[in-house]
Amino acid sequence: MISLSLSNFIKTILNIQDNNISFPEEEYCQVIKKGNHLVKVFKGFLKYNYCACPHCSSKNIVKNGSRHRKIKYISIQNYNIELELTIQRYICKDCKKTFSPSTNIVSDNSNISNNLKYTIALELKENVSLTYIAKKYNISVASVQRIMNICYPDFKVNKEHLPEAICIDEFKSVKNIDGAMSFVFADYQSKSIIDIVEDRRLNSLTEYFSRFSLEARNNVKYICMDMYVPYISLVNSIFPNAKIVIDKFHIVNLVNRAFNQTRISIMNSIQDDSSKRKLKLFWKLFLKYYPDLCRVNYYCQSFKRKLSSKDKVDYLLEKSPELEFHFNIYQDIIQAIKHNNFKRFDEIIKKYLASKEKISKKMITALKTLKKYMKYIGNMFESNITNGLIEGLNNKIKSIKRTAFGYSNFSNFKKRVLIQVGIIPISA
Ligand SMILES: [Zn+2]
Repeated sequence: MISLSLSNFIKTILNIQDNNISFPEEEYCQVIKKGNHLVKVFKGFLKYNYCACPHCSSKNIVKNGSRHRKIKYISIQNYNIELELTIQRYICKDCKKTFSPSTNIVSDNSNISNNLKYTIALELKENVSLTYIAKKYNISVASVQRIMNICYPDFKVNKEHLPEAICIDEFKSVKNIDGAMSFVFADYQSKSIIDIVEDRRLNSLTEYFSRFSLEARNNVKYICMDMYVPYISLVNSIFPNAKIVIDKFHIVNLVNRAFNQTRISIMNSIQDDSSKRKLKLFWKLFLKYYPDLCRVNYYCQSFKRKLSSKDKVDYLLEKSPELEFHFNIYQDIIQAIKHNNFKRFDEIIKKYLASKEKISKKMITALKTLKKYMKYIGNMFESNITNGLIEGLNNKIKSIKRTAFGYSNFSNFKKRVLIQVGIIPISA
C-alpha cells in the first residue's frame, strides 16, 4: 500500500505536477459563493529553495515576505475551483532585486491555469458561443477570446499550392462588412475549406487570388460554382487552366423552380375545381423524376379510390395538355442529367428553344439561361464535380454564425470557423 500525504493527494486530484507546490494539512479548502457560482478555494504554498540570486548569482539572499495569487482552475462536480497560492518572496542583498518562484501550472501573467486554458481551447472547437463558454467557466468573454488567440495560431493560407478541383460558394457575412457577402472555397478532393474571404466582390477576389503563385493557379483544372457572372470573370482572368463547372444542384433547381411556377399559373387557370384542388394537393409529385414515382396503390381521400402516385400524375396530366407539355420538358432535362448524357441535354434545350409550341415565360427564361451557360454545364457532365460538399460546409458556417452572434469582427469569426472545421489545430 502506498499512502499519499494529504498534500500529495490534493495534488493528484487537481493534477498538479509541481514539486514546489504543497498544501497544508489543515484549512486547505474553503467554499465561497461568487455570484451564482459556488467556488472551492484550495490554499497552497509555492516555495523554492534558491541557492543564489537569479539576477546576479549572489548567495546573499533572504526571505522577503510573500505574495498571493488566485488561479482559476478546471471545475469539479459543479464547483468552480480556485487555487490561492501563497508565494514566498526573496530579496538579494547585493543587487536589491526581489524574486519569487514560477510554476508550470499557470503562466506568470495570467490568472487562468494552463489546464483550464486547454479545456476552454478544446471547447472552442464546439459550436457554442463565447458567452456560453465564459459563463460556464466563470471568466470574461474577453478572456475566452484571448485564450482562442493564444491557443490557436493565426491562419495563413498556402499561396504556393492550390488543388486541381475547387468548389466555391458564398454566405451572408457578419456585420460591419461592406461586401455583405463573404466567399468560401474548398478542396473538392480532401473536402476541406481552403480559405474564407471577407468580400466576394470581383475586385476583392481578383486581388486575393492574384497573391497566389502562378504555379498554384495553373494547377487548378476545375472550379465548381453557381451561376454568378463575376465568378466566371474571376476564373477567366486568374485561373488560366481551369474549366468552369456549374453546380448540378443549381441547374436542377433552376429547372425545378421554372416548372413549378409554370404549374402554379396553369393550375390557377384551370376551371374544374376538383382538378385544381388535386393539382394543389399533389404538387410535389410533379417535381419528382417520373420513373421514380411510386406504383403501389393506396386509398386516397381525394380520389375516393385506391391508386398510386404515378396514377395521380397521369390523371392530372391528362386533364391539362399544357401542363403535360411543360412536365415533359422538365422530365426530359432531369432525365438527361440523371443519365449523365450531355449530348441529349444540349439537344433538348435547343429543341425546345426552337419549338413552335407555346412555352411559359418562366420556362423560356430557364432554357435560355441553360443555353447561355451550356459550355460550363458541359464541364459539369464531363467532370461530375458538384458543390454538395461546400454546401455542407457552408451550412456549418451559417450555424456557427448563428451561435456566434457576438462576432462583429470578421477575422475573429473566420478564425473560429477554421477552428471548428479543424483547419486550425490547437497549439499545445
Ligand atoms: Zn542579486
